[in-house]
Amino acid sequence: MAEHRHITIVGAGLAGALLATLLAQRGWSVDVYEKRGDPRVQGYAGGRSINLALAERGRHALRLAGGDDEVMAQAVMMRGRMVHFLDGRTDLQRYGKDDSEVIWSVHRGELNLILLDIAQQAGARLHFHRGLAGVDFANRTARFKDDRDGSEHEVAFESLVGADGAGSALRAAMLRERDLGERTEFLGHSYKELEIPPAADGGFSIEPNALHIWPRGRYMCIALPNDEHTFTVTLFLPNGGDPSFETVKNGADARALFERDFADALPLIPQLERDFEQNPAGLLATLYLDNWHIDDRAVLLGDAAHAMVPFHGQGMNCAFEDCVALAEHLERNADRAAAFAAFQSERLPNARAIQQMALENYLEMRDRVDDDDYLLQRALERRLAERHPDRFVPRYAMVTFRRLPYAVAFERGQRQRELLVEATRGHASLETLDWDAVDALVHERLAPLPTEA
Ligand SMILES: Cc1cc2nc3c(=O)[nH]c(=O)nc-3n(C[C@H](O)[C@H](O)[C@H](O)COP(=O)(O)OP(=O)(O)OC[C@H]3O[C@@H](n4cnc5c(N)ncnc54)[C@H](O)[C@@H]3O)c2cc1C
Repeated sequence: MAEHRHITIVGAGLAGALLATLLAQRGWSVDVYEKRGDPRVQGYAGGRSINLALAERGRHALRLAGGDDEVMAQAVMMRGRMVHFLDGRTDLQRYGKDDSEVIWSVHRGELNLILLDIAQQAGARLHFHRGLAGVDFANRTARFKDDRDGSEHEVAFESLVGADGAGSALRAAMLRERDLGERTEFLGHSYKELEIPPAADGGFSIEPNALHIWPRGRYMCIALPNDEHTFTVTLFLPNGGDPSFETVKNGADARALFERDFADALPLIPQLERDFEQNPAGLLATLYLDNWHIDDRAVLLGDAAHAMVPFHGQGMNCAFEDCVALAEHLERNADRAAAFAAFQSERLPNARAIQQMALENYLEMRDRVDDDDYLLQRALERRLAERHPDRFVPRYAMVTFRRLPYAVAFERGQRQRELLVEATRGHASLETLDWDAVDALVHERLAPLPTEA
């Protein structure tokens, strides 16, 4: 029986390492092939965003894998959005009701190192410098290339799991075999990372327990804290128009943009010109696939199956939830093709929902967090959440602090949004609302949410 529980994972990034742990802990024989070298030996060189917001879905998966304590030891709490207005005023908009509802900034590299360690401790075999280069699905063999000398290595597999990220090589190989219904929608905006170093006394130079946002309509900056007292700043700009990555081309242009639009951030980023010129601009896109697997031979998860724009801070959290779901389906169902199909049926609608919510959140973050109607609706949302904690849970909270399916959060969120717009129409403050009528609407439209296990 044991030899029938072997699995080959492509990619030892966040999802690959976590899935390897979950399966190895359940007694599976797991081999993981990673294109890059071992970051524990040569330092982490993950090119993308340096820190990530970790929320309840991700933490739940880490708890199951036994990695939550170690990850949380280096995490920085973010209580809410610290909005930086153009005139220099700031306002902390809490994410949840209190400090039990917060998100955590974690360092991508450190997180990956922890996950690799726990995967190895659980018994998974990790193979570095092995980039997937081709798959022979008929003969169930995969070819991996060593980037150091170009040598190729053929490996027999029973099933391949693609945890190799948005540019997945396994997805490309599957596409040559079968139509997966692939569609990529580019956002038309890109991002660049900059850094706020520690203050002169070695501490944080701005409030550490917040996700800072400088919303400016069509574009914005955000900053997340790191445990070494730095902040990773991400500048999001359109690809065309003014300002955009077409008009802001070099360090001097970036300085001029910051002087005009992000004046309070400018003195915090001493190496603005260097960071802007040295760091690549990252593209933002949503990847939709109708099929995530080829019978029992290959399945995709995480960014390889459903890359999304980063504005809900859920890509990794969703990828971790995928890992838990796939491990459970594989345990429950000895027929692997059926397990992969059940995994896809469970996760695909949820991935679609969070992809959509992530797109919507971009508009909300860059354009609405300083808008009066929005602030009134948010105030009502908070009051209704207090008055009806079992029925009215803000969408952000359903996504971030709960684990109910994303699709349910999306659908209830739409009903709640309509209710908020309807109830606040024609009002400038909550004082003039007819609370009996509003409470009746909540009861009529929102059934109590089931409690989570
Ligand atoms: C700017 C930005 C900010 C973000 N912020 C957040 C956030 O705050 N919270 C959040 O939850 N998510 C966030 N995300 C999303 C998050 O980064 C991804 O969803 C997450 O990294 C997906 O994990 P993954 O394991 O599927 O892919 P990846 O993390 O990309 O890992 C893929 C792995 O596969 C390896 N690989 C690639 N090709 C091959 C190959 N041919 N053979 C073998 N190995 C290969 C790579 O080297 C890598 O190790 C953000 C993304 C961006 C771009």
